[in-house]
Amino acid sequence: MIITPSETKTNLYCPSLTAYERRKTITIHIGDLPMGSDYPIRVQSMTTVDTMDTQGSIDEVVRMVDSGCEYVRITAPSVKEAQNLENIRNGLHKMGIHVPLIADIHFTPNAAELAARIVEKVRINPGNYADKKRFEIIDYTDASYAAELERIREKFIPLVKICKEYGTAMRIGTNHGSLSDRILSRYGDTPLGMVESALEFLRICEELGYFNIALSMKSSNTQVMVEAYRLLVQRLDQEGLKPYPLHLGVTEAGEAEDGRIKSAVGIGTLLEDGLGDTVRVSLTEAPEKEAPVARALIERYTNRVPHQPIEPVETCPINPFQYIRRETREVNNIGHLNVPRVIADYSAIPVQNLADLKSIGHFFLPVPDKWAMNDLGADYIYTGKNPVPFMLPNGLKEILDYEQWALHPEKNNKFPLFEATEWTANADGLISEQLNFIVGNIHSLDQNFLEGIRERSNAVLVILSENKHAMPELRRFFYKLVTLKIKAPVIIQRGYETDLGDKLTLYSATDIGGLLVDGFGDGAMVSPRFPAETLHDDKLVAAAAYNNIAFGILQAARTRMSKTEYISCPSCGRTLFDLQETTAMIRKHTEHLKGVKIGIMGCIVNGPGEMADADYGYVGMGKDKIALYRGQEVIKRSVTAAKAVEELIELIREDGRWIEPSEREVLV
Ligand code: SF4
Repeated sequence: MIITPSETKTNLYCPSLTAYERRKTITIHIGDLPMGSDYPIRVQSMTTVDTMDTQGSIDEVVRMVDSGCEYVRITAPSVKEAQNLENIRNGLHKMGIHVPLIADIHFTPNAAELAARIVEKVRINPGNYADKKRFEIIDYTDASYAAELERIREKFIPLVKICKEYGTAMRIGTNHGSLSDRILSRYGDTPLGMVESALEFLRICEELGYFNIALSMKSSNTQVMVEAYRLLVQRLDQEGLKPYPLHLGVTEAGEAEDGRIKSAVGIGTLLEDGLGDTVRVSLTEAPEKEAPVARALIERYTNRVPHQPIEPVETCPINPFQYIRRETREVNNIGHLNVPRVIADYSAIPVQNLADLKSIGHFFLPVPDKWAMNDLGADYIYTGKNPVPFMLPNGLKEILDYEQWALHPEKNNKFPLFEATEWTANADGLISEQLNFIVGNIHSLDQNFLEGIRERSNAVLVILSENKHAMPELRRFFYKLVTLKIKAPVIIQRGYETDLGDKLTLYSATDIGGLLVDGFGDGAMVSPRFPAETLHDDKLVAAAAYNNIAFGILQAARTRMSKTEYISCPSCGRTLFDLQETTAMIRKHTEHLKGVKIGIMGCIVNGPGEMADADYGYVGMGKDKIALYRGQEVIKRSVTAAKAVEELIELIREDGRWIEPSEREVLV
C-alpha cells in the first residue's frame, strides 16, 4: 500500500510562511559545539582522503577547519577505519584542533559501535544500517513488517546505548537513493518514505531516552529534498516527537556553478523558512571549497530580521509536500504546459551588433548567413527603451516598454511591458492581441488589479520584490493567485548587482528556485544591475552569466532541462578514482547531451543508490574497474578507466540518445 501525503492533517511545516523566524529546536551536544536553534547555523563538510591515511586525513581536516568548517565528517566503512579515527583525532588534538568529528556509517553496525566510543557524533543511514539493498519490492504484511522493525531494534539498540553512555551525538540521515526495500514497498520512493525511514529509528531512540540527535533528508532531486524536510518537520510535530535540529544538504550536487545552484535551490529554500541548523554543501571539488559556499548561504539570514511585513497566511493554499505546477493558461508560448521561459534583461545593454546576442545563446553565422541557437538560447529579450536595431533571430522575441512598443512601426515578435498603472489606463486601447507583460509587486498587483485581468487571455504578469524577505513575499503573491484562481502566467523577476561574486548564483537560485520547487513561475528574468560606467563588453559578459544562471536554476529545480545533468558524488574515503578529474573528462565528452542525467559515483557500495534517478551511471567498483549502469541496472562490469568513457558513450548510443557534438547547435 502506498501512503500519500494527502493524508496529512495540516500543511504547515515552519514557524511562519511570511515572517522570517528560525524553527525552535532542542539543543544537541556535539563535543564542545552545541547545535540547535539557540545557536548559529553550523557549517560542516566531509573529508575525501582514505580514512586509513592518518596524516592525509589530518592535513585535510586542518584545511577544512581553516576554510570555516565547524564539524568534520569522515567515512568509516569498516571497523579498521573506525579504529583509525582515534589516531586522526589524537593527531588533531596534538595540534590543538578540537573540531568535533563525525563518523559516517553505511551497512556496518560494528564500525558504528566502535566509532561512537571515539568521535563526537556518528551518522547512520537508516536505509542501510540494518538492511542490505536487494532492489526487491516485497509485499510486506503488517506482521512481516513488524518483524522487520523488531530486527532493526535488535541491531540498532546497542549503538543507541553506547551513544548515551559516551555522550555521543547521532545523525539519522536518510538518503532518497538508498531507502530500504521495506520502506519502498510500503511508502514508495517518496518524501513520506524518506521521513518514515528516519522515524523508525528515531522512535527507538526516544523510547530509550536518547535525544542527542540531528536529522537529514537528502536527495539530489531538489523538489524531493525540500518536500521531505518539510514533511519531516510536520510529522515530528504531529507525532509529538521532539523538534530535533536539521542537517541540510543536497546530495551529489555536482561541481562548479551547477553544483552551487542546485545546493542553493534545495538548502536556500529551506533556510528561507527558518529550517536548518547545520548545512553541508556537497560539491565534487576539494572539501575546503564547500564551507565558504555553506557560509554564504547561511549568512544571508543573519540580518534578515527586521524585514518589511508580509501579509500572513493561516494555511498554505498548496500541498507543500508534493510538486504540482500552478495551473495557468497558455499565453503565446508562456504558461500551461510550456517549459518556464528565460527572459534576458538587456534594458541596460543597448544592442548594437548581431554579435551582442551571442551572450544569450543566439549566434549569427555569416556562412551560411543564418542564425543559430544553442541550448541556452534565451526565449525573450527585454530591451526596455532600446529596441534591437535589426531583425531578430526566429527563436527570440522582444519585450519593449509600452511607450516604445506603441511607437515602434514593426510589431512582429515584439511585445509590450506595462507598469500596472499603465495597463489600467490603456487596457482598452492599444495593446498586443497576443501577449502583454504587466510588471509590478505584491502591492501594485493587488486583488482589484488581479480581478481586472482575470479574463484576459493575453496577459502575463512579471512579479518583482524589493523586500529583504523576497522569496516569501513573492510566494505570498502566488498564494494569492491560487486562492483567487487567477490563471495568468507569471514571470519571476529578480535583480542583482554585478559585483556579488559567488553570491549572485546562490541568492538567485534561492529566490527563484524556492518558488519553482513549489510549482510557481512560468519564466525567470535575472536582471543585472551595473555600476555606472560599466563598459558595453563587460555588460555582455554579465548578460551571458545571468542567462546561464537562469537556465541553471530552471534545471536545478527540475522544471526545464537544457543541459546534461551530472549527479556526481562529493567523494570520500571510499572513492576509487579521482572524481574531479573523471567528472571533468566525462563532462567534456557528454555536456552537449541535453536532458541526459549521468551519475558519477566513487564507489559501488553507495553509488548506485545515491545516483537515484540518473539515466546512466559511471561507478567505481575497484582499482581501475568501472561499472556502467543504465538506470539502476549494471550493464558492464570491470571496465578499465581508459575504456570506460568510450563504453559509456556506446551505451548512450545504443539507446538512441547520443548525438555528435557538432550537431548541438540548432539552426533556426
Ligand atoms: S558514492 Fe561517493 S561519497 Fe558516497 S560513499 Fe561512495 S565514494 Fe563516498
